[in-house]
Amino acid sequence: MPRSLRGRLILLFLVATIPPLGATLWFTSSLLERSLSYASTRELDEISRALQRLGREYYRQAQDSLRRDAAQGAIEPQRYLPGREASWPAEVRAFQESGETERFVLSGTNGDRLNFMTRRGGEVRVWSRPLGSVGMESLARQYRQARTLVDAGNQRNLRRGFTLTLLLLALSVWLVGFALLAYLASRVSRPIRELTAALSELASGNLAVRVSVDREDEIGEAMRAFNRTAEELEQNRARLVYLAQLASWQALARKMAHELKNSLTPIRLTMEEVLARAGESDPAFIQQAAQIVGEEVETLERRVRAFSEFAAEPPVRPGVLDVNAVVEERVAFLRTGRPEVRYTLRLDPRLPAAHTDEDLVKGVLTNLLENAAEAAGQGGEVLGRTSLVNGKVAVEVHDSGPGLSEDVRRSLFEPAISFKKGGMGLGLSIARKSALLAGGDILLVKGELGGAAFRVVLPRYAAEQNPDS
Ligand code: ADP
Repeated sequence: MPRSLRGRLILLFLVATIPPLGATLWFTSSLLERSLSYASTRELDEISRALQRLGREYYRQAQDSLRRDAAQGAIEPQRYLPGREASWPAEVRAFQESGETERFVLSGTNGDRLNFMTRRGGEVRVWSRPLGSVGMESLARQYRQARTLVDAGNQRNLRRGFTLTLLLLALSVWLVGFALLAYLASRVSRPIRELTAALSELASGNLAVRVSVDREDEIGEAMRAFNRTAEELEQNRARLVYLAQLASWQALARKMAHELKNSLTPIRLTMEEVLARAGESDPAFIQQAAQIVGEEVETLERRVRAFSEFAAEPPVRPGVLDVNAVVEERVAFLRTGRPEVRYTLRLDPRLPAAHTDEDLVKGVLTNLLENAAEAAGQGGEVLGRTSLVNGKVAVEVHDSGPGLSEDVRRSLFEPAISFKKGGMGLGLSIARKSALLAGGDILLVKGELGGAAFRVVLPRYAAEQNPDS
């Protein structure tokens, strides 16, 4: 039994076609045999042989009757006397020279007379009688013609010709069928072989493997499903890698927060000491110094808060969330905080609920919307839109700002420690961590307003899911 699908299909074809084909050939050739046995050559053959037997019988009877009548003297013979042989007919002379005692010969036109010759001493006697209308020679000629016809018929050998044609015809039809099946079998088995190869590649860890799909049938559907699954696996692995990286960055952040706090406390204590002893020297100078140090301390404290937030592992409480409502609420807050920017909402009224953590999603959206408003600036525009993308609830934030350079894109979600005013460089990595914890992710998409655009995807709430779980 062949192991490949193609081999099995071909074996099946052989098993399914050869027995009926054989039976058909056998049946047809035996039918042919029967119909040929009715053909006229065989009848002619039989008739001619009967005619031959009949002719012989008639000739023998005519000989017997002539011999009897000659013996009884019923007819007078023609006598050929010795000494005058030169005037005898040739056949009489031939008989005389042969030495036989008697001889029958045919004479007349078409052999319609029978002559009986005997000898007595040197004399030859010849009795003669007509054979009626039956000419023996013409009978023999007709018989020979019939035999020639029969032999010619046999030589043509119709039976062999027919059988050969039938065989050739059946064989060519079968060969065409076989070629067609071999082609079909390889068309069916090729994509399955490709799919199997891709599956083992995927199993061995290459998640980037994809198969090219050029068909619309069930096999094509399976190949597309494979590609989707591989895509999903690849994305999940990227997320896992990211989470693992985050864990190490978190450890670092925790340490930094601790170190900063360690140095902040003595600064504060020292300052309080300086203030307590204010009367002992130049009060104005001390006042100024205190203010500068106080501001620095505040900045340091802000950084500590950011690091703590980044390092924090908040509890995740997934529930049913109306994402449209959350987007509306977040944008309403921003409108009062940053009135110089124009806000537009495009919310899908049929958007299904998401199954996610409300606080985490709010944090993510606030971060994205604030970044967008800052990038858009005075007179700029921020667009918030929701839709269902590939079965997931998606929120997009677009802005009319300068967009993201290739450099910024590459390390956008990696935590950076920037000392620019107002930003820590941790916002987007915190947002992505929150999105992942909330069961979703953040991706960059093509901006509709000329600037940057981010998409937050969240798991859709399935009705059969228990909202409390
Ligand atoms: P920060 O806390 O400093 O805002 P983020 O992680 O939120 O840090 O952002 C990192 C950097 O990415 C920002 O400083 C800014 O340069 C860039 N960025 C973020 N969002 C946008 C946006 N919508 N348009 C342009 N640049 C942006």
